[in-house]
Amino acid sequence: MNVEDELRDIFGNRVLTRKEDMIPYTRDASFFSSDIPLAVVIPRNAMEISKLMRLCCENNIPVTVRSGGSSLTGSSVPLRGGIVISMSAMNRILEIKTDDSFVIAEAGVRLDDLNSELRKKGFFYPPDPASSMAATVGGSINTNAGGLRASLYGATKEWVLGMEVVLPTGEIQQFGGKTLKRTKGYDFTALMVGSEGTLAIITKAILKIRPMPEELGRIMAYFTDIENVGRSIMHLKSSGFIPYIAEFLDKGSLESVKIAKGIDYPKESNYLLMVDMASTHESISRLMEETSSVIKRFNPVSISITTDRAEMEKMYEARKGLYSSSLLLRESRDQYIVIADIVVPLSELSSAMREMRDIIDRSGIKAILFGHIGDGNIHGNIFASPGSEENRKKVEKLQLDLGMVAIRHNGSVSAEHGIGVEKKELLREEMKFHNSEYTLDIMKRIKEVFDPKGLLNRGKIFD
Ligand SMILES: Cc1cc2nc3c(=O)[nH]c(=O)nc-3n(C[C@H](O)[C@H](O)[C@H](O)COP(=O)(O)OP(=O)(O)OC[C@H]3O[C@@H](n4cnc5c(N)ncnc54)[C@H](O)[C@@H]3O)c2cc1C
Repeated sequence: MNVEDELRDIFGNRVLTRKEDMIPYTRDASFFSSDIPLAVVIPRNAMEISKLMRLCCENNIPVTVRSGGSSLTGSSVPLRGGIVISMSAMNRILEIKTDDSFVIAEAGVRLDDLNSELRKKGFFYPPDPASSMAATVGGSINTNAGGLRASLYGATKEWVLGMEVVLPTGEIQQFGGKTLKRTKGYDFTALMVGSEGTLAIITKAILKIRPMPEELGRIMAYFTDIENVGRSIMHLKSSGFIPYIAEFLDKGSLESVKIAKGIDYPKESNYLLMVDMASTHESISRLMEETSSVIKRFNPVSISITTDRAEMEKMYEARKGLYSSSLLLRESRDQYIVIADIVVPLSELSSAMREMRDIIDRSGIKAILFGHIGDGNIHGNIFASPGSEENRKKVEKLQLDLGMVAIRHNGSVSAEHGIGVEKKELLREEMKFHNSEYTLDIMKRIKEVFDPKGLLNRGKIFD
């Protein structure tokens, strides 16, 4: 039997081999793309993936796992061809256990679908990337997704109790479990978080969940000075006011939201700080007043409080759609977006933000700044033009310069999008800065233990 016949033997008609069916799998949400892979398979369970991996081991065929395909760093693009595993059919929620505060879900469940089921029971899963409509359980574990609520709840790594995986050699294994803690040697659950599909294929996960907050309130504070945005958030958190969500948008971002959603902003302002607080019915008003009085110390040009859910939802959706609305700012239709995704400690925020603003202004390249500022995460959407070598080099330099701001301010070049193909050089720079390049060698050796033939997601994180 040839490989295609063997694939049909395992997956029946859930094997795609026609070029037109496979084109969508050559791209993710980043600007990277690949050639057409050998085949795309759509498994329904771990056993099918196990058989596939044994076949790929025998025939030395590279494999790329793809879930929502919303990666912004090229990490779900099948750079080296081979077979793509689409997790789209492994999309069942298997168990919701509110007594123990966990949910067990297959890896292909989309985060919005997970949360709409949990909501029926008064619970939610806190990780909330802006892409939650597309991003899945497996994809978000593999990128250690953060998102809007990470200000209060942390990134995905805080929420994964355990998982079932298929190793590249075909063994099916369980990591972690249903309890809140355990100490039994190396923590493979933690190792899988952020591994970008290079170590194993996650087939299901046990995730912590939380009861939904009783009441939410929002502060919209507009500033002229970027440093005061950073100072506000640092002082809020160090005074014990921990936002449920804290986002910031610069003038370009605000303008794109205005064009896309019709939400206006005060003309004299350059930045928005949007802070949501979670509390009880009884205490929300007092909490909002206290929170706003901390922010007022940093001279906002305008500040308002609301607890109106519809109004809050509209701006929340606008923030989640910022990537799409920022496309409206392109100077030509063929421009594409390169995203900086840095994070710094809160005490470094105001100076790091100022430096980023100045670097962008000096670069002569159009870019907007925004981010999940509650955990020190700042994004820069840089508008790049294809075809011009000079522009490409300038964009690469700007991406590097913004990454170096994070490194100099004790932060990191990748807060939540991962390394993928795009940030390999930045990762090396960060390791070099800390005299820790040997860590990359250790990563490669760990990869060899899991994946001795180097089949899974070749060319991602490191070469
Ligand atoms: C508009 C937009 C907004 C975004 N906002 C945020 C944000 O706020 N916060 C944030 O953190 N990210 C954000 N992202 C980035 C992206 O959505 C996240 O990284 C997301 O977690 C990826 O999930 P996915 O299911 O789409 O994974 P994919 O893109 O399909 O895959 C991501 C990586 O995980 C691997 N993988 C996927 N599933 C599995 C599996 N089951 N087993 C093993 N490996 C697997 C893939 O091989 C790949 O390396 C955004 C992206 C877009 C397009």
